[in-house]
Amino acid sequence: MTHWGVATSPNLLFIMSDDHAAHAISAYGSLINSTPNLDRIAEIGMRFDSCFCTNSICTPSRAAVLTGTYNHVNRVTTLDTPMDNDLLTFPKLFQQAGYQTALIGKWHLGHGPRHDPTGFDFWRVLPGQGHYHNPVMLQSRTDGAPGYDVVERGGYVTDLITDDSLQWLDGIDRSRPWLLMTHHKAPHRTWEPSREHFTLYDDVDIPEPATMFDDHATRAAVVQAMEMRLVDLDPIVDLKAPVPAGLSHEEEIRWRYQRYIKDYLRTIASIDDNVGRMLDYLDETGQADNTIVVYTSDQGFFLGDHGWFDKRLMYEESLRMPFVMRDPNRIQAGSVQDAMVLNVDFAPTFCELAGIEIPVEMQGTSFAPLLEGQTPPDWQASMYYRYWMHRDRAHNVPAHYGVRTSSHKLICYYNDPLDQQGANGPIDPVEWELYDLEADPMEITNVYGHAGYATVQSELEAELARLQHQLGDTPAR
Ligand code: CA
Repeated sequence: MTHWGVATSPNLLFIMSDDHAAHAISAYGSLINSTPNLDRIAEIGMRFDSCFCTNSICTPSRAAVLTGTYNHVNRVTTLDTPMDNDLLTFPKLFQQAGYQTALIGKWHLGHGPRHDPTGFDFWRVLPGQGHYHNPVMLQSRTDGAPGYDVVERGGYVTDLITDDSLQWLDGIDRSRPWLLMTHHKAPHRTWEPSREHFTLYDDVDIPEPATMFDDHATRAAVVQAMEMRLVDLDPIVDLKAPVPAGLSHEEEIRWRYQRYIKDYLRTIASIDDNVGRMLDYLDETGQADNTIVVYTSDQGFFLGDHGWFDKRLMYEESLRMPFVMRDPNRIQAGSVQDAMVLNVDFAPTFCELAGIEIPVEMQGTSFAPLLEGQTPPDWQASMYYRYWMHRDRAHNVPAHYGVRTSSHKLICYYNDPLDQQGANGPIDPVEWELYDLEADPMEITNVYGHAGYATVQSELEAELARLQHQLGDTPAR
């Protein structure tokens, strides 16, 4: 590993929220809300339009971000597989290179001696999913001993995580670079707004997604059998009100959507306010010119799209991660990047930007050249995806893997729990889907087996096998 002169190394502020879909950020053209502070990052930085996760669920995506490896390598395959904290992560490398490092907010990679955060000088995290209001947090011991101290106080989680982040920045050595990972709980289910935003959107109807009444007619049987439709939301727990009497089915869907999306967007309004506080702090303390700022989310989310909430699937709304980044020393203001980048690419990219040699263990590719507008001629043109948690108890989503290119997507529902934690039987028959992203960008019509797609189908099947071989994953059947 190289140790560059730390005085010239940039700081890195990595802000990650939980379940924030790109289509709920105005810099991405949101039709349903406005996020002026998140947009500030894109306005003087770069918006990535083809950033994808390799497994659209919280714990596995977080492991991929930290380690730069796919889930079959880091073994964090489902929600129920905590991360081994002996794994190599980019914060550990930053710490070894002389960075001051901290993690504040959502961790969700397990607790205890084998799973607590490592690689951080200081951490203060939510236990498990944590709570929106008056959240208890666990923090590293000041004497560096194993275990944690419990922090109890009042307040709203997004405000407190930001308060803690700013307090940590205020107390560190200004002569050394820093890495701060601020991980918000919001906008995760069950979408509980702060007092300031309780009544936001009370007087308006939020526009409905074009695909809200998708009938799923051509989709795999296992997809049709999932339980993540708007009608599967619990009225009292999720929507905080009983369904009004006398509604038709269509009227009830519309009522459910409004109840759901308004609270989702209210929690995002708090994130936007608090990201603004952090950007202001960097300006006021003269650190903006030497600080890289990233805003992303661990995956996307269905915002009533196809009649669903939640994520897990390989469809666009769930697969796409928002990713905006500013770096005054490399990125031209207001730039937009369409080259494909993945969550496994974050760690090697951050290493390169900090002057740290990229370890061979990392499977992702540094996209540092893209920041300066240079796309390497052999840049990745396809991506590999795998969701392992077959028939999870929450939503009954099938296990699947697939490949996406700029024009098509092939999905194989291999439908086998394979003894993964949190996955369940029975083993279902294998099913396939193919989408033409140019002719059908909303992925309404599955064209697998259609005569006109025979060539592209066989090419994608070969590409899927090639990626599995290259990345060392094993086909299920
Ligand atoms: Ca998540």
